[in-house]
Formats: sequence, C-alpha cells, structure tokens
Amino acid sequence: MNKKETELRYDSISDDWVIISPIRADRLKKKAIIGCPFCSIETQEKPVLVYSNGVRSDTKDLKNWTTVVIPNKYPIFVPFQKSKEKMEENIYSKIKSGGFHELIVTKDHEKSLALLPLDKIKEVLNCYQERIIEFKDYDFVKNVVVFHNNGKEAGASQTHPHSQILTIPLVDKEFRIVLENHENYFIKNNECLRCKTNKEEKKFKKRIVFENKDFIAYIPFAPKFTYQTIITPKRHFSRFEEITEEEKESLAEIFKEILSKFYKGLNNPSYNFFLHTAPLDKEYPNFHWYFSVFPRKAALAGFEMGAQMEIPSIYPEDQASFLRNQK
Ligand SMILES: [Zn+2]
Ligand SMILES: [Zn+2]
Repeated sequence: MNKKETELRYDSISDDWVIISPIRADRLKKKAIIGCPFCSIETQEKPVLVYSNGVRSDTKDLKNWTTVVIPNKYPIFVPFQKSKEKMEENIYSKIKSGGFHELIVTKDHEKSLALLPLDKIKEVLNCYQERIIEFKDYDFVKNVVVFHNNGKEAGASQTHPHSQILTIPLVDKEFRIVLENHENYFIKNNECLRCKTNKEEKKFKKRIVFENKDFIAYIPFAPKFTYQTIITPKRHFSRFEEITEEEKESLAEIFKEILSKFYKGLNNPSYNFFLHTAPLDKEYPNFHWYFSVFPRKAALAGFEMGAQMEIPSIYPEDQASFLRNQK
C-alpha cells in the first residue's frame, strides 16, 4: 500500500466521513522557512491562475501578479491519484479519490481581505468562480469546498492572507442535511427556505448587519458561533459560480463591510469563512448558496465539542446591533 495515498473513511456510528491524509504530515515536519513562502511566490508550485490588476494573465507571467491560484504544496488530495469507489468491508467502508487542493493568495502580506480595495477582493471571487467552473470537467469532483482561515485561532498556518479550495468526492453529512432541509421545505411550501429566511430577516430588521442591492448579511436566528454572519444573494440561485459580474462587485462590497466590522469591533480577530454552494454531482435547484463568516475566539470546550453546540452569551439581535454600529 502506498503510504501517501489519501483515504476517506466512513464511520457508520456517526454517519460521518473523515479524511486520512498522510502527505499532510510533511507540512508539520518541514524545517522553519526563513521568510514568507507566498511573498516569494516563484518558490511555490506552478500557478494555475494568475490575476494582474483585474485582468486574467498568462500563468507564466508572475511579474505583476496581484492574485494567484497555486496548487497546495502539501495537498489533502492530489489530482490524478487513481480513484477507487467505495470499498465495503463489513461495517467499514472507504474511498480513495483524486482531488484538487489549491491556494488563492493575494499579493500584500500585511493586508487581510478587510483592508484590500474592492477590485482586489473581486479578483479573489473571480478565482473561486473560475476554478469551480473548471473543476466541473472532472468526474472525481463531486463537491467543492472554498474556505478562508485568517489568524492562528482560525487554524491558518501562514500569516500571509490566502483562501483554500478543495474538491471532495462526496457531500459531508452536515452539508447533506442543509441540502435536504432546503429540499424538504420546498416540497412542503413551494418556496426556497433561504428566500423565506431572507424575507423574514428583512421584515424583522434587527439581525441584519449590512445589505446592498444584491446581497444581505445577517446574524442567524440561532447562530452556531457568536457573531456568525451569513452573506447570501437576494436572487435565488444554487450555484456560486453562476454569479454575475455586477453581483461580484456587490459581494466584494458586503464582504469588505462585514470583515471591516469584525476588524474594528472585535479587534482584528482570527476568523474563518466558508462557501456553501451546490455540489457538482447533480442539480440542486432548491438550494440557495451562502457564505458563513465567523470570528474565532476561545477554543471549543468539552460541551461544545461533544454536543456541537456553542453557548453564546450575547443575543443574536445584540450581536447584529453591535456589528451594525461599527463604521
Ligand atoms: Zn507573505
Ligand atoms: Zn432561494
């Protein structure tokens, strides 16, 4: 058995999959590098996408890059590993699969997304969109996970701002439940659950943090973390990659607003954000995509880990009012 192959293993007790990725261990073993690897991008893997001041440029031209997509040096998945569909053995099953694991890096080492101008945030959104569209050509890609870790408490191993994009050959349990909830709500009510939620939030107003012509951002009625903020389009569509140019401009604006409010109000906290967009394995017309953004403070303790439930001490309405007032 090749020790470096990534495996997905299924736990029938919790109905969860885990990813065992031995190649990732090399990341922890590597010797301390002097200086930032992303500030000398030419030392990294060959880019798959390069932006230079708003224009997509040749991947060989790294002279004037402003945003770049590079394969992760320590990937969870490698693209063309031979895939093996589910192998079952009594109560155990596992999958081996190829996959992509890439980093989206913005040029300025010091500037997190909150501090970047709108056109540079839009470049990052362009990269998410273009890579998802390109991944559609690969059978082993069933689901694309886009996320961003900023700061130590959020699990970022490099301080240089970067997002990650990872393809996985299945839909994890938590997201499967989200998709099913949208489907079931639609069957019962002939309406999208997120469109309905957006309507309710607009009526109630008190949980809204920011809104522009195409997007709305609010603290959910029952947030999973304190200050968790949902950013979602007003127009119903299930796939992030179908976003228009104009909507991308609005999304860059609302992202900057929300992250700046975190930066000012919560003193430049560590944070994660995560894109929930329809998986690529089939159509999900009744799903409505969204970003979930959340600052990270204390590590999760026993109850939170065991019950997967945080205990915020601030009402969501007060969390929203606090963020709204950060200008
Ligand atoms: Zn750097
Ligand atoms: Zn909708």
